[in-house]
Amino acid sequence: MTTTAVNPVLLLTAVVRGVERLSPSFVRIRFGGDGFEHVGPEGATLDQRVKLIIPTPGRGVPRLDPSGWYAAWLALPEDERGVLRTYTARAVEGEGADRRLVVDFVLHGPDAHGGAAAGPAGAWADEARVGDEIGLLAPRRRHERDFGGIEFAPGDARRLVLVADETAVPALASIADALPADAEGVAVLEVPDAADFLDVRFPPGIEAHWIARGHRARGSQTLATLRACLRLGADASDAGRSPSPGRAADLDDVWETALFSSSGDDVADAPERAAHLGPEDTYAWVAGDSDTVKACRRLLVGEAGLPRHQVAFMGYWKQGRAQ
Ligand SMILES: Cc1cc2nc3c(=O)[nH]c(=O)nc-3n(C[C@H](O)[C@H](O)[C@H](O)COP(=O)(O)OP(=O)(O)OC[C@H]3O[C@@H](n4cnc5c(N)ncnc54)[C@H](O)[C@@H]3O)c2cc1C
Repeated sequence: MTTTAVNPVLLLTAVVRGVERLSPSFVRIRFGGDGFEHVGPEGATLDQRVKLIIPTPGRGVPRLDPSGWYAAWLALPEDERGVLRTYTARAVEGEGADRRLVVDFVLHGPDAHGGAAAGPAGAWADEARVGDEIGLLAPRRRHERDFGGIEFAPGDARRLVLVADETAVPALASIADALPADAEGVAVLEVPDAADFLDVRFPPGIEAHWIARGHRARGSQTLATLRACLRLGADASDAGRSPSPGRAADLDDVWETALFSSSGDDVADAPERAAHLGPEDTYAWVAGDSDTVKACRRLLVGEAGLPRHQVAFMGYWKQGRAQ
């Protein structure tokens, strides 16, 4: 008997079915279209990542074969390729022809309070209208494990430290939706403006701190809040931290979870150790701009002494560098 392996990667044309301005910096877009009945994940979306292909203006969504799609996409002439970006499945809703993938886009730019969005994905979202089309790479329902892309893995940990900038608020909101009612810990969410505080439902045991950045250095208030929550002494260097775009462009990628470290460090035994987390243990999930994530890592692992296998640190973007 032969069995045909199912490709866990769905490559679809995603048609905009709804656009909702959530706040000055966030726009929620609902996508649907042919094949969307197969879009996963089946269970909680958590921090499930998906890939979007924003077509070159005036060109259609590139047609690609899902197996070997990346090489095929790279082989396209530049003006046919569009741009590839990573986003979060904020939710997957509905069934059959009504199945929708929800993505919350940050409208970023030199001035997120009304100025033009910088970057093709942010700019596309800012202008998106019902009927517009982009490319989507998403997990096939019931094959999401093979697709990958969910990093949140607290194991038995009972105390959570959750940190997000605006690009990771959609992921953290989706994680919050799935937390058990007795979850405990802190959540620190930094967004450009107080008007960007979204309606995220945390269990009562999670102390949520929303921070409006305003004109303060990106990440500085996140670090100060984390210090206060963890009862660590103040660090004068955090307050003045103002990473320059030039410096950020030189940084290595920041991605460290129980299973993978972008630094190349050996984390091979981590899953086994993670399985032995006691119920009182703390798990940290930190995502956002690379500089802030690195600083949080220093604070949580270096100063607070969290074991590395109990953390997920993920640089979602770098200042001054297109994804
Ligand atoms: C796993 C993962 C999940 C993500 N989920 C989301 C999500 O759900 N929603 C979301 O909005 N983003 C999300 N991001 C971040 C998103 O991919 C980046 O912000 C991306 O750079 C946006 O693409 P762009 O074409 O708009 O800008 P790019 O062309 O990539 O960048 C252009 C310029 O804008 C800067 N820039 C990029 N993003 C920002 C920002 N937010 N604020 C200020 N400057 C910025 C870059 O440094 C660069 O200088 C996620 C990233 C990852 C890795």
